[in-house]
Amino acid sequence: MIKNVRVSLGSRSYDVKIGENLIEKLGALLKGAPSRRAFIVADEKLGEHRKRVLAAMSNAGWEAHELAVTAGESLKDMKNLFAVYGQMLEARIDRSSTLIALGGGSVGDAAGFVASTYLRGIRWVGLPTTLLAQVDSSVGGKTAVNLPEGKNLVGTFHQPSLVVCETSFLKTLNDREILSGLGEITKCALTFDPKFYARVQKKWTKLRELDEKVLSEMIYLSLKYKAKAVSRDELDLTGTREVLNFGHTFGHALESVTGYGYFQHGEAVLWGMRFAIALSLIRKKLSRQKWQEIDTFLRMIPVPVLPSRIDFKVYQKAMSKDKKAFESKIRFVLLKTLGETVSDRNVTSENLKADFELMSSNKKG
Ligand code: NAD
Repeated sequence: MIKNVRVSLGSRSYDVKIGENLIEKLGALLKGAPSRRAFIVADEKLGEHRKRVLAAMSNAGWEAHELAVTAGESLKDMKNLFAVYGQMLEARIDRSSTLIALGGGSVGDAAGFVASTYLRGIRWVGLPTTLLAQVDSSVGGKTAVNLPEGKNLVGTFHQPSLVVCETSFLKTLNDREILSGLGEITKCALTFDPKFYARVQKKWTKLRELDEKVLSEMIYLSLKYKAKAVSRDELDLTGTREVLNFGHTFGHALESVTGYGYFQHGEAVLWGMRFAIALSLIRKKLSRQKWQEIDTFLRMIPVPVLPSRIDFKVYQKAMSKDKKAFESKIRFVLLKTLGETVSDRNVTSENLKADFELMSSNKKG
């Protein structure tokens, strides 16, 4: 059964389709495109998935040019994107063409940026292949390029025209990548809906096993909440979308301090959520009982351990560089209770120090 989430943004509204064997219906899903010419930016590692997409497009009468790229943070480097623009010109991709991003979050971020800038912007379609990209990064229109000074410091808002979450793509993911996506699902459940959170806990084993029915239900629920936040605050200006950042201020700092190679994004977010709930306790937003309950669940999720020495000053510096820090004050999204968050701009150095001390004494789980 195909599930559908509508991202309502007036003339920029689009559908996110979730289900198994949707790729074979790609021709029908792409109906209404101004032309049947496409440029596919595809993760080179995804041989079988790439073949399926190319076959579906060709069966539907599309002229599709494919460029295989190496996924990862190095793709989100301007220098590498110039080569993509060049290939698109060579393939005579014009303003009526569609760019298709086939891969995880790095491919989506980079290809989305290319789509938003090539010939002043062309339409694009996301075919996310990691769980993290299906539940989070493919929806919302944030595109991104890295600078030497930090991750995602350049980018645009450019909504896709369609996103297809093909759940069978996820069968080739390794365990760490699955857990990374489950981290984002857990974030959504914790911050938006106690019933969803209870369901994540109950169905955890089935989720880890990628049970199709449970998986598509959880992808659907995560995207339903994300779509709502995006519809209310497309450009991340009013604070409504800020809740999606829960665990990310700490998570981004962990990724940065460990050089972006140690943690997967969702793993860092899982640690980040533990830091965030501990800070919620310290700031007296969350009860001790709820903190304990949630931390007990989060700590059983196997993620790489924290670096042996965690000097909070190093992390504090990394956090203040995060683009979500305004007027030199770091804004933290904290948890009040299941499904309810609060933005806190008054976190002190002492609060952060206490948080790091609590996590240091607690980190082995
Ligand atoms: P990724 O694209 O680097 O993929 C992770 C790894 O999985 C890569 O090695 C890739 O080759 C592999 N892979 C992809 N699909 C696979 C499949 N089906 N089977 C086997 N292997 C597969 O990154 P990611 O983890 O999906 O996402 C992280 C990126 O997303 C970061 O750059 C982050 O900044 C970005 N992000 C963006 C947003 C947004 O709103 N735009 C939100 C969250 C994260």
